Amino acid sequence: MSLPQFKLLRPRSTAEALDALAKYSGNLCVLAGGTDLIPSMRQKLFGPEYVLDLRRIAGLRGIQPQPDGSVEIGALTTIRAIERSEFLRQRYPVLTEAAATIASPVLRNMGTIGGNICLDTRCLWYNQSLTWRKGCGFCIKKDGDLCHVAPGGTKCWAAFSGDTPPALLCLHAGIEIISPEGTRRIPLADFYTGLGDNYRTLKSNELVTRVFLPASSAGYKGIYRKLRIRGSIDYPLAGVAVALKRSNGHIADARIGITAVNPAPLLVKGAMELLAGKPVDETLADAVGDLAAKVSKPLTTSALTPEYRREMIRVFTKRAVLAAAGANPN
Ligand SMILES: Cc1cc2nc3c(=O)[nH]c(=O)nc-3n(C[C@H](O)[C@H](O)[C@H](O)COP(=O)(O)OP(=O)(O)OC[C@H]3O[C@@H](n4cnc5c(N)ncnc54)[C@H](O)[C@@H]3O)c2cc1C
Ligand code: SF4
Repeated sequence: MSLPQFKLLRPRSTAEALDALAKYSGNLCVLAGGTDLIPSMRQKLFGPEYVLDLRRIAGLRGIQPQPDGSVEIGALTTIRAIERSEFLRQRYPVLTEAAATIASPVLRNMGTIGGNICLDTRCLWYNQSLTWRKGCGFCIKKDGDLCHVAPGGTKCWAAFSGDTPPALLCLHAGIEIISPEGTRRIPLADFYTGLGDNYRTLKSNELVTRVFLPASSAGYKGIYRKLRIRGSIDYPLAGVAVALKRSNGHIADARIGITAVNPAPLLVKGAMELLAGKPVDETLADAVGDLAAKVSKPLTTSALTPEYRREMIRVFTKRAVLAAAGANPN
């Protein structure tokens, strides 16, 4: 599949990038590592006149500990750099675990944390070549007016399928967004809309520039578990991140994030209330697994059945909670 024609813009600073966004934002795609955007452009899911390649902007790379104990990560920092950071592994292990499961080593060398956060949602009926989509019929997400997955509905249910966002949600991460109008900082939880087509609250003239991890989230025990078809390279079809803090044998704080089973990654509400102040055993871990499964609403957007994916959320949550609590090392 060939790439459509486009003009490549290669700014060396965020100021140059903002100039380009001010001029061309209606007709431009942002490129970081390109590991998701380029295959999607080959499939003719995007055909912008301009591609804004951020990779020459050195100021957007790197993991920077801050004097107040928090950490800033530049949006262009590679997934590999995050996976291999001993500093992050010590303080925010749920993030390095999730990063290590993304795609393959080659793709992790190219792919960035900003691209992973901004990743497009996925569906069997959407991530296909133009010829395939023409043959089977276009859908709401692109060029059509019906949904093959939920016929009769008007909503797109394509699944958000990034691995680091559920871990970042567990860490209460924030992100910095810049545009020609200025800079804003928001909790990552406010970035996602819950819609499969219009899945993020990023305007066409905005860039994600930094990720912030608060000092208060450091030191949590972290586990990430993921269901995929090919263990060596695939997107998640269900993913669970767990971050737990223990005190005197009891749970002092608990956060559970899920991915790939809804149009947005989500924190499971109520997990903390179930776990707080209690020693974790099988029955309690079962109850948390049930809660996470209830929040998961997978549809037939992937090769595995929704029932199986929801069940795996339940099983992974239970196992991850037991492992994070030290109740079961497996
Ligand atoms: C075979 C294969 C397997 C994969 N498996 C996984 C997997 O297991 N888990 C997973 O999470 N991902 C997976 N991916 C997707 C991808 O490799 C990763 O999500 C990667 O982190 C994306 O980062 P990138 O820099 O390459 O993004 P790009 O492809 O450059 O961009 C992705 C999207 O984000 C936007 N974007 C990128 N950076 C910014 C920014 N700073 N500001 C605003 N918008 C931005 C782009 O415009 C585009 O819409 C896989 C991809 C392939 C091809
Ligand atoms: S969920 Fe429906 S509208 Fe969305 S991409 Fe799939 S088929 Fe298209």
